Amino acid sequence: MEDKKIYAGFWKRALSSIIDFLIVFTVFIIVVYLVKPSPENDLVLYIFWILNILYFSLMESSKFQGTFGKQVMKIKVIKFNGEINSPISFLRAFSRNICRFFSAIILFIGYFMAGFTKNKQTLHDMIAECLVIDTKYIKNIKYNCDYCKDELNFTIKELIEGKYICEKCGRENVFPPIVKDIQL
Ligand SMILES: [Zn+2]
Repeated sequence: MEDKKIYAGFWKRALSSIIDFLIVFTVFIIVVYLVKPSPENDLVLYIFWILNILYFSLMESSKFQGTFGKQVMKIKVIKFNGEINSPISFLRAFSRNICRFFSAIILFIGYFMAGFTKNKQTLHDMIAECLVIDTKYIKNIKYNCDYCKDELNFTIKELIEGKYICEKCGRENVFPPIVKDIQL
């Protein structure tokens, strides 16, 4: 089987961020128009950050496993050692997005780390133990148990090792290792 890269590439992530920024910014303009915060205080800034963090955290912990930008680019956020089709918890998504602040404050180096860290993780991915993966490479994976035909929900580790113990019948499914680009 050919080598497959499962992590989302830097440019897909960058483009999805631009789409999401435009969405949050549009909502922000509407909220500011409605709330009309006084220009003397920092409320405007807080509104932007709250919208930003809520939007990202709610979408990433939803069944879509990602924001609209990520859905358009066909990438999603998973827990590093979690099942790839299970959404991360709201709390994990929330901490990931709080940590985006740290990634940004160091001249966005935390974001650019996705270009050169071994598993293409940003600083906030590493802190929240998340991975952003490209769904293109996993959509063809067989998801049913060889024996009981129950739906299988793999973790990255199982895709690397090429074996999965079915949760329903307890039998071991063996297949050629699918993921080769992630270092556990
Ligand atoms: Zn089974």
